[in-house]
Amino acid sequence: MSQEQNRPKPIKYNSATEMPYCDLSQATMEWNQTGTWRYLRPSYVERTPSCQAACPTSNDIEKWIKLFEKGEIEAAWGAATIENPFPAIMGRVCFHPCMDGCNRGELGGSVNINMLERALGDAVGEKLPVATPFFEKSGKSVAIIGSGPAGLACAYHLTRLGHKVTVFEREKKAGGMLRYGIPAYRLSKDVLDREIERLSRMGVEFKLDSGVRDATKMQELKQDYNAVFVAIGAQKSRPLGIPDEKTTGVMSGLDFLRSFETGRKHNIGNRVLVIGGGNTAVDAARTAKRLGAEVTILYRRSRAEMPASEEEIQAAEDEGVRIEMLIAPKRVIVKSGHAAGLECQRMELGEPDESGRRRPVPVEGSEITFESTTILSAIGEQIETNIIPSSLRFDNGALVTKSCGQTEWNSVFAGGDIIEQPRTVVDALCAGKKSSIAIDCLLHGDNLDKVLDKIQIGDTEYVSMARYLQHRTGNSPILSTNSETELLNEIVRFEDLNAAYFTKSSPNESPTLPVKDRLNGKSFEEVHTSPSEELRNDELSRCFHCGRCTECDNCFIYCPDVAIAKKQSGFDIDLYYCKGCGVCSFECPRAAMKMSEEPTEL
Ligand SMILES: Cc1cc2nc3c(=O)[nH]c(=O)nc-3n(C[C@H](O)[C@H](O)[C@H](O)COP(=O)(O)OP(=O)(O)OC[C@H]3O[C@@H](n4cnc5c(N)ncnc54)[C@H](O)[C@@H]3O)c2cc1C
Ligand code: SF4
Ligand code: SF4
Repeated sequence: MSQEQNRPKPIKYNSATEMPYCDLSQATMEWNQTGTWRYLRPSYVERTPSCQAACPTSNDIEKWIKLFEKGEIEAAWGAATIENPFPAIMGRVCFHPCMDGCNRGELGGSVNINMLERALGDAVGEKLPVATPFFEKSGKSVAIIGSGPAGLACAYHLTRLGHKVTVFEREKKAGGMLRYGIPAYRLSKDVLDREIERLSRMGVEFKLDSGVRDATKMQELKQDYNAVFVAIGAQKSRPLGIPDEKTTGVMSGLDFLRSFETGRKHNIGNRVLVIGGGNTAVDAARTAKRLGAEVTILYRRSRAEMPASEEEIQAAEDEGVRIEMLIAPKRVIVKSGHAAGLECQRMELGEPDESGRRRPVPVEGSEITFESTTILSAIGEQIETNIIPSSLRFDNGALVTKSCGQTEWNSVFAGGDIIEQPRTVVDALCAGKKSSIAIDCLLHGDNLDKVLDKIQIGDTEYVSMARYLQHRTGNSPILSTNSETELLNEIVRFEDLNAAYFTKSSPNESPTLPVKDRLNGKSFEEVHTSPSEELRNDELSRCFHCGRCTECDNCFIYCPDVAIAKKQSGFDIDLYYCKGCGVCSFECPRAAMKMSEEPTEL
């Protein structure tokens, strides 16, 4: 007999005289089905945590934090890698916009998600399981040009979607800027090798030392493969545009950093000047410092305008790198055919330019000279346009694309530093994932715009692979398996939470190598290290689990009508007795319930 049939029939009273003498319980209240009074009904929901909405890979951080906290490390890693293929890499190099979005920030400081992501990647470590494909082999093939984070992410997701992927890379090793730009003291090359090896084990074919030289080769790839993803990044250093910049003793910061992976050795001497204020400048400076030089960064604006991350700038200063602000180079001072210094000019800040930053304006008569043994120029990277067919357009130095990286050519997509987007690893991963979904839609004849409506995270430009899988199969490996839990695309903000249930606590800092050890023979060892289990567990416990039920039992405890029952997993709401008072939803600490109007039709 069903639960419905088992219930006592409602007692109907036609007048007040038929009512019992008093409202005392007649041993059971089962007859009094208060649910008929209800105007609003509660239900369980799964909302989007604000950290997820702030991560360009739409990493479902709350999901893997919950599993990690329970000690289910492989399950946590599996949940994380639905959206972000490389937790161990991102836990080292990502500028963690997720942490700016984290609601915990309002109560003691954001959860140190970046440290936890690294801890998760490292906990799986050498045992890295091979991510299994979600679908049978499609028989379709995709060529990817470039093996930086954009290319790797696209290769990873397309392989999981069942397609055969071949990556063409002109260097001898894969990884792009992860290998040839970001130094080993921030990202160990063993970690990078391990992750790339895993992609090979998944079935991604890498054709190394196989650069796509020109537009004709690209046309051929377009003929030979069902789709092409172009992810060649921005590899050319921007010239300084000052006299004698080609003199011996002047080199690009990017070439200097690259030389560590390609095995070339440079004698940089003991006095290094670095020109620029971005990631390349700061990494080149910290690398030169590790080689024993006195290093000064010259930057033409003020610290507030430096594009490099504040954490990296601070670390450079801690390591003894000097930063001279509001200085611009005018010419290289040459002695005996070698650069011996720079003549510079002091600047002051004027009106904002097109980038929104205040424009540096020369201060007349303020020339100043700096001596050097080596000058490293790092004022930005440009895109090499020679392999791109002339029918594809560039605007402001970046390849023009439509939604999800689609170019004017139907089956050719592009993403990462080659297109107009923030130049970060996480944005490159985002671009790779978006294009993988667009390519999958193209290969299946699915309407991308309609799909995007279903998989977009809140009102952001980011998309969820978990939701895409749900769209394609009706099921998703990490979204709620409980059919009574409705998935909502609403982003949970701090004001949506019942903060009275949370106590203030400060974040745990990532363990860091002391400065003296960084510059003392161990120089290229990673500056940050993995947290201890104790530290990691403490940080895991700081997560509010925004928008997701943790079975804290508040709804069950507070319901005045005992209408909520605990199940083996989750809860049952007995709508025959729920009066719709909303206490359960109000007392939920994490906005994992909602009250909605009672349907008017029976
Ligand atoms: C020194 C430095 C430090 C950085 N630090 C950080 C950081 O800490 N955190 C962060 O988020 N971002 C950082 N960035 C930015 C980040 O590395 C880039 O935004 C990101 O790597 C872009 O990814 P991509 O795949 O588009 O390009 P890339 O990483 O540049 O990869 C492009 C790949 O394409 C290959 N290629 C180029 N032309 C061809 C061709 N014709 N045929 C075949 N292959 C080709 C290249 O060899 C390369 O492997 C840093 C950048 C630099 C330069
Ligand atoms: S990839 Fe970056 S933004 Fe996303 S969760 Fe990791 S640290 Fe945060
Ligand atoms: S508290 Fe947890 S779920 Fe909420 S935003 Fe921060 S990391 Fe995400």
